[in-house]
Amino acid sequence: MKSIVTSPTLCPFCGAKLNKATHLEQKRTPRPSDITVCFTCLNPLIFGEDLAPRKMTDEEWFAVCDDEELYNDFKRTISHLKSIKK
Ligand SMILES: [Zn+2]
Repeated sequence: MKSIVTSPTLCPFCGAKLNKATHLEQKRTPRPSDITVCFTCLNPLIFGEDLAPRKMTDEEWFAVCDDEELYNDFKRTISHLKSIKK
């Protein structure tokens, strides 16, 4: 896993400083609309056009929940992060 520097911002849920993104399986630069998770509070976020993570709209969250593969990836990511935060 290798972290990539992103536009600095604060987590809209917990206020943690967000300035890096890490993909669990590959080194890839985040793209707008990619789903991410705050490492501190584990809430779901989405990369905006400026690549700063922000809260998802209800419609964006429903789209994640309706996409079985994406939702399973999201759940797997949360589970992995919980395991390494212990
Ligand atoms: Zn947070």
